Amino acid sequence: MPKPKKCSFCGHDFPAGTGMIYVKNDGTLLSLCSSKCRKSSLHFKRDSRKFKWTKYFGKEEKGKG
Ligand SMILES: [Zn+2]
Repeated sequence: MPKPKKCSFCGHDFPAGTGMIYVKNDGTLLSLCSSKCRKSSLHFKRDSRKFKWTKYFGKEEKGKG
C-alpha cells in the first residue's frame, strides 16, 4: 500500500494516486488533495490558517510569537 500524502494546503492526509501534484517554479512540490485546495492555494493564494476546514486553522505563523 502506498503511503498517504499530506495536502500542502489543508494538511489532511489523502490516498496516493488521488489529488494532484503541482510543481512550483522554484521546484517545490505541492501535494493537493482536491480542486478546492488547488484553487485556494494556487489561484487565490489563500492563507490556510484562515480556513476552518484546514488543519492549520487558527495556527500561528511560523517565526512569530
Ligand atoms: Zn487539501
